[in-house]
Amino acid sequence: MSSYNLLMLPGDGIGPEVVNEVERVIDWFNKNTDSKFEIEKDLVGGSAYDAHGAAISDAAMDLAHKSDAVIFGAVGGPKWDNVPFEVRPEAGLLRLRKELDLFANLRPAICYKALADASSLKRELVEGLDILILRELTGGVYFGEPKEITDLPDGQQKAVDTQIYTTSEVQRIARVAFELAKTRKGKVTSTEKRNVMISGVFWNKVVSEVHKNEYPDMELEHILADACAMQLVRKPKQFDLIVADNLFGDILSDEAAMLTGSMGMLPSASLGAVNETTGKRNAMYEPVHGSAPDIAGQGISNPIAEIASFAMALRYSFNLTEEAKLIEDSISAALDTGIRTPDIMQDGMKKVGTHQITDVIISEMNSRS
Ligand code: NAD
Repeated sequence: MSSYNLLMLPGDGIGPEVVNEVERVIDWFNKNTDSKFEIEKDLVGGSAYDAHGAAISDAAMDLAHKSDAVIFGAVGGPKWDNVPFEVRPEAGLLRLRKELDLFANLRPAICYKALADASSLKRELVEGLDILILRELTGGVYFGEPKEITDLPDGQQKAVDTQIYTTSEVQRIARVAFELAKTRKGKVTSTEKRNVMISGVFWNKVVSEVHKNEYPDMELEHILADACAMQLVRKPKQFDLIVADNLFGDILSDEAAMLTGSMGMLPSASLGAVNETTGKRNAMYEPVHGSAPDIAGQGISNPIAEIASFAMALRYSFNLTEEAKLIEDSISAALDTGIRTPDIMQDGMKKVGTHQITDVIISEMNSRS
């Protein structure tokens, strides 16, 4: 029997609603399998600000460091729009990413057969789509200094952002890409703008070296980021795993995500480095969507992104691949029955709420195990 500690940070808005549904899925594993999950809960975001005056407390950070994985809901909402910048709800999320050093952000774009018509692309282009965008999350132009607006002598102003990557930063994300590729189709597509950016030349060189020296058996292709964006909407199934820096990864992962339909369907994982002594890696799993204040409290939010994020935890933190697949197959089967939360509602389908769609996912898990 294996046991794991999870820290749950439901957050604000629909965060607690969708995290509740994940708890039901976790209960199912605790009752029906040899994997046991112990759950601790704490506050993050606006709810943490209301309780402690900070977007996450030191005590919650301590729990995050000690946990095997953090399951995050969503933060924010109009109630906290005017709180001081340094304690705004998102500051809790950023502190977690920074202090846990979660440098690798994984966003799968999976198109469920039942939802292929919800994509803005033709069904044949997206049906069966299963790609992974790996984004470097803690470096690059979002963090590089100088980052400023300065006054010029002629009365104009000048704005500067700085794109910086070091060898080790590119090496570590490249290694994550190749390790993930081992569990997928063995192919990595690395993207940058080496035609106009020296940091792109550097990115390309370091990824190629990691490939040649450490992963010669994997396939590596390079593509310019603009061409990648174009190919993603032209023929997305040509890709399996795309690795990109923080900026291009941000854009390409949003583009890839929308190939699949709704915000309520998109999970993500953020991983740190493996600790050489303990073999453990910091990890946080969260839906891509926000706290959706417009629908919070109505019992109609779609819990699939949160549940699929837990499936990612099973796969990437606990190596429970079959169990992850059980959840993913059950989500797909639940959609095949024709039930839909309002965000993914289609003609002829049956509209259900947050709790009912989870009921069906769990009953599909029962019938598959
Ligand atoms: P949002 O993702 O919360 O909502 C965008 C739209 O998608 C809304 O119409 C919402 O109802 C819908 N939606 C989102 N998730 C859904 C779900 N699971 N089921 C059904 N419908 C869903 O983005 P927003 O409206 O721009 O932001 C709302 C708040 O969330 C803001 O305070 C923002 O700062 C915050 N936010 C937080 C995170 C995070 O916690 N990681 C991410 C994005 C936005």
